[in-house]
Amino acid sequence: MIWRFCSFILCLLLGGVGGWLYAEALGALVSVVFASVLWVGLDLVRGLRVLRWLRKGDVASTPKIGGLWDEVANRTRRLVRLRDQQTQEVQSRLDDFLEAIHESPNGVVLLDNQGHIEWCNQTAAAHFGFDVERDLMQHIGNLVRDPVFAAYYANPQQAHDVVMPGSQHSPSRPVRLSVHLHAYGTGRRLLLSRDVTAVEQADAMRRDFVANVSHEIRTPLTVLAGFVETLQNLPLDDDERHRYLTLMATQSHRMQSLVSDLLTLSRLEGSPLPGAHEWVRMPRLLAQCEADARALSVLLADPPHPLHFDMGPDCEVAGIHAELLSAMSNLLNNAIRYTPAGRPVSVRWQALPSGRYEFSVQDCGAGIASEHIPRLTERFYRVDRSRSRETGGTGLGLAIVKHVVQRHGGELRIQSTVGKGSTFAMELPANRVRLLGDTSPRVLQTDSRLQQRG
Ligand code: ADP
Repeated sequence: MIWRFCSFILCLLLGGVGGWLYAEALGALVSVVFASVLWVGLDLVRGLRVLRWLRKGDVASTPKIGGLWDEVANRTRRLVRLRDQQTQEVQSRLDDFLEAIHESPNGVVLLDNQGHIEWCNQTAAAHFGFDVERDLMQHIGNLVRDPVFAAYYANPQQAHDVVMPGSQHSPSRPVRLSVHLHAYGTGRRLLLSRDVTAVEQADAMRRDFVANVSHEIRTPLTVLAGFVETLQNLPLDDDERHRYLTLMATQSHRMQSLVSDLLTLSRLEGSPLPGAHEWVRMPRLLAQCEADARALSVLLADPPHPLHFDMGPDCEVAGIHAELLSAMSNLLNNAIRYTPAGRPVSVRWQALPSGRYEFSVQDCGAGIASEHIPRLTERFYRVDRSRSRETGGTGLGLAIVKHVVQRHGGELRIQSTVGKGSTFAMELPANRVRLLGDTSPRVLQTDSRLQQRG
């Protein structure tokens, strides 16, 4: 500023001295006036250049002007750059924030005070069937027409969530959303949505399970209570008494089996996956299954079923002995229970061309219609309810088999033809099986992998 003032004074002095030398006092006066007009004119031109530069908005390069205007331009450029940087930082933080909300598993919709959609994330768009761009500023009531939501939206006092069908809901594939409206700012509302389909299904399954267990236990209990009352109140001869006690024993055995299967299932769900530290000898396991199956067949069938056992390769399986025995016995027991007396049942342990191993049980029973097959492993699902009960079935056997096979990394395959019979096969991965005496690197490598999974 001082330099600017000095340059102005210097300009006047030079003009004044020049004018004095040329025409004394009058010359000095005219020259001073001329010099000051010239100085102001030049200054104005520089100011105009700065103004033109600012209007162009090209802050990347500053015009070469000199003097105070140069500093004005430089400082303006630095200020603008600083603001740009700050704006970019804020923008990038906002982008990160929006990206995080976009990726959220919950839907988020911002509504203005009229109920128009100001913004929504991808999840909300999928939940309600919005188009993220096209539906902006549309009224929420025009897009979400479910009566449950309409009633909820119309009554802002409601503090609780409501559950409504999602946009992709269909009777065969239900989609249920939990929706919450939250007021904020001046009359704005935040609409949050959460997919609760799985939670609702789990709840329904739990309710069904409890109802099924109660029903399964209540039936034998009612029978038992009836017999107890009869024994208490009626004078019975020894034969009748013996008959009643036998029937009571059958019912208590039925309850015992049910509780035992329930405990097995709960153990399977709660225990860690089987690792590779325990190796089960297949010949011993198969011999145990065979002995149990022959005993059951003698008990249930006259004549007993001819049982064919193909013991296959002599090997060991990485897994839990009790679980494998339970799964294999369940398949064998079913074959015996659902096959008429005297008809053959074949059991086979074999290596498959894929390198996997398979334990299969083939019977010549009544077979199962194809529509039942996908549901057989559901708890308490029975095709032939009375046959299952008569032979002491709990409806949990195949659920246990499926769990065991999955825990050992395998799969359960069911093939059946009505009137001809069924084949139930447990397929186990190659890395869970080793031929006896085989300590090749392939098995040792998979050992550590199995241990990690376990
Ligand atoms: P359950 O204790 O009733 O046998 P499971 O879970 O073992 O229960 O089997 C479910 C249903 O599958 C059975 O009730 C039966 O209807 C059918 N099923 C199972 N194995 C066979 C089989 N080998 N032949 C025909 N039906 C079978």
